[in-house]
Amino acid sequence: MLVLVDQDGPLADFEAGFCSRWSEKYPDRPVVPTEQRRSFYIKDEYPAEYREDIMEIQSSPGFILGLPLIPGALDALHGMEAEGDEVRILTSPLTRYHNCVMEKYAWVDRHLGPDWVRRIILTKDKTMVRGDVLIDDKPEITGYFIPVWEHLVFDAAYNVDSLSRRISWTDWRQVLRQIKIARGTTGMSWRGTVGRMVEQAEQSQQEPHAPRHWYGSPQGRGGRIGGPV
Ligand SMILES: [Mg+2]
Repeated sequence: MLVLVDQDGPLADFEAGFCSRWSEKYPDRPVVPTEQRRSFYIKDEYPAEYREDIMEIQSSPGFILGLPLIPGALDALHGMEAEGDEVRILTSPLTRYHNCVMEKYAWVDRHLGPDWVRRIILTKDKTMVRGDVLIDDKPEITGYFIPVWEHLVFDAAYNVDSLSRRISWTDWRQVLRQIKIARGTTGMSWRGTVGRMVEQAEQSQQEPHAPRHWYGSPQGRGGRIGGPV
């Protein structure tokens, strides 16, 4: 399978990094512990007057690079490779990108090694990327396309209400195996996933949000069916 793994949450402990910087910089202000979080965005857990201070910490130099590695993440990534899965890191930069973008690459280099740097896919819209599954702590992921991947929600207090299938670094092996068995495949199957997406769209009488040349339209670029774009 082609497994896409989100960076902040499943791999890098954004929450712990924030709580540590917040209490260090503002020792008199309350901290919302990660296990009590109910909103995906940290800024939504605090009074509005703290919003700018929160954003300032998250976009400050060294914040992303200093995030701790989530326990079990490295073993899971290596375990997926050992099972024959293709793995990519799919991550969205903060809108205040000046430190974040470079530090996301540096973080991967530091904690996972240079071989993983070339597997980073940086995008604000994860629906534009193909894959079989996306392991991501965000409760709901939307974008321009109907995603071809299945969203597996990485366990966190703020996503317990998500309707998607859940995963953690203690049960990832079983979850991925169940999906492979259900799909009847152990290899890359994004083509099958795209087929299912088109089928579902036809059933619901909707056009999939996808450029026609991706799906072998004879009128596609250069008239080639399924050719490179
Ligand atoms: Mg995340």
